[in-house]
Amino acid sequence: MSGPSHIKPLNESVVNKIAAGEIIVAPVNALKEMIENSIDAGATSIEILVKDGGLKVLQVTDNGSGINKSDLAILCQRFTTSKLTTFEDLSSIQTFGFRGEALASISHIARVTVTTKTKEDACAWRVSYSAGKMLGEAKPTAGKNGTVILVEDLFYNVNSRLRALRSPNEEFAKILECVGRYSINAAHVGFSCKKFGESQFALAVRASSNAKERIRSIFGRAVASELVEFKMPENMELGISAHGQVSNLNFVSKKAISPVLFINNRLVTCDPIRRALNQVYASFLAKGNKPFIFLSLKIRPDLVDVNVHPTKREVRFLHDDEIIEQLSSQLENTLSSVDTSRSFKTTS
Ligand code: ADP
Ligand code: MG
Repeated sequence: MSGPSHIKPLNESVVNKIAAGEIIVAPVNALKEMIENSIDAGATSIEILVKDGGLKVLQVTDNGSGINKSDLAILCQRFTTSKLTTFEDLSSIQTFGFRGEALASISHIARVTVTTKTKEDACAWRVSYSAGKMLGEAKPTAGKNGTVILVEDLFYNVNSRLRALRSPNEEFAKILECVGRYSINAAHVGFSCKKFGESQFALAVRASSNAKERIRSIFGRAVASELVEFKMPENMELGISAHGQVSNLNFVSKKAISPVLFINNRLVTCDPIRRALNQVYASFLAKGNKPFIFLSLKIRPDLVDVNVHPTKREVRFLHDDEIIEQLSSQLENTLSSVDTSRSFKTTS
């Protein structure tokens, strides 16, 4: 029998590609990071351009703060961020980003070109990146205030990932779904999304639209016309409040739409919440009918851990049982109050 193999450090490029693979599994993951960066930068307009499901081109144009030219050299380096300084800051973080990993990761598995202009700059600056590093110096160019991040040939050097991905159309569908869901909670931010070479937008949401209008443009009139407002006043003890729009009892759909759920403005999935709310609906709806749920939860930042998953799609929070209990009973109240058939039945 041969002895144990020797332990050797991985070389940096392997480490970076592995790390990138945990955050960026499909084009939609890169897009989500870029949208979050734009919102963090205070953008009110986010335009998205997609070619071949984001594998050929994924471009996000925003009108946010822009990036200081002097920061461009380390923009795509791992663990460089303008958002977090101490570990303790994490417990009060208000931005989506904090780890400084997204752009770095993308630059290890795609060709990245950044064009950016702050309002102090006289012109925009453009520079490309590969494997975390600038390719040459930033060049002056024409451009508006804000940032354009162009990602080309995603996964060009990760063959296994390329093979595992679905068709460009399916990747595009995932992108549209992500942008659409994001847009619902992003008040004051306009979104558009277009396939390269097409003149029509696949999605367009005006910055001035309210939540209901956003739901209409993403999920259609049938959903938007049967909504009731959900409001849970602040519960000081649990450090939580919630608002949203949920379908009323006239809404008839056999198709399950997974809840559009935000915790502290992060688009997340939370199976316990989904199950609990579906159960409440099950007692009101005819068998097989599925609800539509948009909820935006605000939980005191020190009670939430956003750093449990590389894609930040899962979050953990304290008092989860009590919080879910509160949400369920609030939903029950909301639905009871619109359930005229039921109140007729009980009074007759
Ligand atoms: P994080 O968001 O965790 O800080 P990223 O890799 O996503 O890490 O971004 C690194 C830094 O690049 C951000 O902290 C921010 O300063 C800057 N940045 C990225 N995208 C934009 C953008 N669209 N507008 C302005 N600054 C940006
Ligand atoms: Mg980020």
